[in-house]
Amino acid sequence: MGSTSKTPPRRARPVIAIDGPAGAGKSTVAKAVADRLGFIYIDTGAMYRAVALLAVQHGTGIHEPERLAALAESARFEFRRDARGRSRLHLNGADVEDDIRTPEIGRLSSPVSEVAGVRSALVPLQRAMGAGGGVVMEGRDIQTNVFPDAEVKVFLTATEPERVRRRRADLAARGIEKSLDEVLFEIRERDARDSSRSLNPLTKADDAVEILTDGMPVDEVVDAVTSLAVKAGAGGG
Ligand code: C5P
Repeated sequence: MGSTSKTPPRRARPVIAIDGPAGAGKSTVAKAVADRLGFIYIDTGAMYRAVALLAVQHGTGIHEPERLAALAESARFEFRRDARGRSRLHLNGADVEDDIRTPEIGRLSSPVSEVAGVRSALVPLQRAMGAGGGVVMEGRDIQTNVFPDAEVKVFLTATEPERVRRRRADLAARGIEKSLDEVLFEIRERDARDSSRSLNPLTKADDAVEILTDGMPVDEVVDAVTSLAVKAGAGGG
């Protein structure tokens, strides 16, 4: 036929985009799926957290968008595997994985990620990291903005009490004790901000598969996502 295809060439291996609210279990699932498939795991939230960390280190406030954007633009982000195979974010050459996981940086990362100049610095880097496929990328806007053409789109969620329970357990495992009310307040505040912002808010793509993970063992969720990936050409572990 005379028509020329305008479809871009297919990636040899799929991009798996996993989005969802805080505490839905994205990281646990995304890491496990990447391990099973031998894919690269990319935690985009870690990059926003790293910009928040830079802001603290430089004394830059959340109401200084130009300075925040400049920090994001000049930063160097690299995900490296440690001796145990775990992915850790290196910022300007230094391992900042522990520093970016504090509740303070978690809280600050949400307003930092609303800054247009911060997003326009980070999104192209994320697209470049996933361009060749063979990646599991988690965040808030992966399926709607970073890779709207991702072969697999999963919206992972859980009810609020379940997300609060998981977040408290995560924190406790790192020696941070927080009351139920405190964690509930933080999760609500962050989700409301992430979902209501005008730029790349947290939303499920129309063609995403939503998985409500309450009561599901992690393995079952990982199986479900892996089988979607295999159907999309991931090849299986
Ligand atoms: O996933 P995590 O909780 O580490 O993300 C930290 C913050 O970064 C989120 O609350 C959200 O505001 C922001 N974020 C984002 N877009 C992404 C990933 C994270 O705006 N793709």
